Amino acid sequence: MAELRGVGIGLGVAQGPVARMAEPLPAPADTPSELSAADETARARDAVAAVARELEQRGAQAGGAAQDVLEAQAMMAEDPSLETEIDARIAAGKTAEFAVHDAFASFRDTLTAMGGYLGERAADLDDVAQRVIARLRGVPAPGVPDPGYPFVLVAKDLAPADTALLDLDKVLALITTEGGPTSHTAILAREKSIVAVVGAVSAKDLVEGEMVIVDAAAGVVTTQPTPEELERAQNRADARASAASAPITPGALNDGTPVPLLANLGKPEDAAEAVALGAEGVGLFRTEFLFLSASQAPTVQQQRESYIRLLSAFPGKKVVVRVLDAGADKPLSFLNDAHEENPALGLRGIRALRASEDILREQLTALAEADAAVAALGTAADLWVMAPMVATVEETEYFTEIARDYGIRTAGVMVEVPSSALLADRILVDADFASIGTNDLTQYTLAADRLLGSVAAFQDPWHPAVLRLIREVGDAGRTLGKPVGICGEAAADPLLAVVLVGLGATSLSMAPTALADVRASLLEYSLDDARVIAEAALAANGAASARAAARAAATTTTTLSETQQKVTQP
Ligand code: PEP
Ligand code: MG
Repeated sequence: MAELRGVGIGLGVAQGPVARMAEPLPAPADTPSELSAADETARARDAVAAVARELEQRGAQAGGAAQDVLEAQAMMAEDPSLETEIDARIAAGKTAEFAVHDAFASFRDTLTAMGGYLGERAADLDDVAQRVIARLRGVPAPGVPDPGYPFVLVAKDLAPADTALLDLDKVLALITTEGGPTSHTAILAREKSIVAVVGAVSAKDLVEGEMVIVDAAAGVVTTQPTPEELERAQNRADARASAASAPITPGALNDGTPVPLLANLGKPEDAAEAVALGAEGVGLFRTEFLFLSASQAPTVQQQRESYIRLLSAFPGKKVVVRVLDAGADKPLSFLNDAHEENPALGLRGIRALRASEDILREQLTALAEADAAVAALGTAADLWVMAPMVATVEETEYFTEIARDYGIRTAGVMVEVPSSALLADRILVDADFASIGTNDLTQYTLAADRLLGSVAAFQDPWHPAVLRLIREVGDAGRTLGKPVGICGEAAADPLLAVVLVGLGATSLSMAPTALADVRASLLEYSLDDARVIAEAALAANGAASARAAARAAATTTTTLSETQQKVTQP
């Protein structure tokens, strides 16, 4: 048995034989064209247009986030500056194949140099180039294999066009050697609940047909598994399937302590699915996701319409909206387009809003108006509004005062910076609630850029330093009687969710697809158990040992409570 490590997407586990994605087409040779430039240009244009239409068609067939991704790829293919670059190479005597290859490669290099979100789009560009070249050569584009039986797909990095149309009856799991947690492969795998481990560099050595276990929750691929390991993995997969089909009940521990389970959303259209999966409200609405491609600040009216759609989907339920969180992984040029050496430490979140206060005021106006409009229809939601990246007590006072001026009844802050966790007892005097963003809190506590694959191992919210900061906030919330939610990815980890409750979290918010697993996990423990498990994790020296200690403590507490139940039952 050997283990390969990568970044797990989601919480699933699956097993099956490996099928490898075909290698990319060889790069075209730089030989002079035998055709006229006009003929080569026409060939290139026809091939690009045909690929763009095919991508749009695949998008329409797939729907959802996949459609957005594939339409963006089609637009990339037909980008006028790319066309100019292709034409220039053909005019210099190159073949259409070489001109396409070379022009796309230079665009790819530009994107890669930009790093972060845009850098991760480079793979999308390679895929479009391969499709165009395949069409020019009259050969099929490299794609997903079909060995004739269900398989674990191993690829360098899947193109969105392939991920979107994966046949989920055949693809048991997905392993990529490249790509990080924010690559399109990861985003789409998450949306389609495909068991996936991305960025597993050593998976390049996996051979066709060999049996593997893909454990997304642990980010591990096990090769040459023993029969016991296969059985354990199957049991976990079965337990997960039964959690997914269990009746939807409000989030709670087994002693009845309520732990509302909320959804993280980026657009109002996703509300219906969240409700169907049992979301009891929204714990984080990322408003910046609505405007990531906008070059100008959205108008009050544009915003109001989106917020009305969101609030109307949750009558009587809590909806926590975060004001625009611009910067680093979520650039909004209308809030900050300065080049910064360290954007994660720059003018971002509440700092950027404060520097453009009119945009903050317009957003609060739109939120207050949407709240009133929905209330007038008799379907009021319970609107809470919070500021991102708050680092000081003074910023807390600034935001809550301005929000209350606009009639926002419940105004809070996100705790994502260690300074605000350490001073939570003062921040929560003024703020009505805190919501802990564990993604950024981990990034800042461990000093590891959350977008950088080379330091991904540090980005682990199980680290006891992160847990200790969360405990500070939980304690402050308990003392001051203020709610403390969790809205980072950590809340979606079923065992860590129990630890977070043990540390004082009063609600958990996550991607809706994680709700069933977390609901089932909470129901296995009492509040006392959760505190014992949290203490075990806190006492560890590192993330891996905290996870192991929590797992061991959890086994003991469940055994204890089963014994207690047997003892108390007649
Ligand atoms: C976080 O940082 O944990 C968080 C929830 O915000 P985002 O992931 O949008 O930065
Ligand atoms: Mg954040």
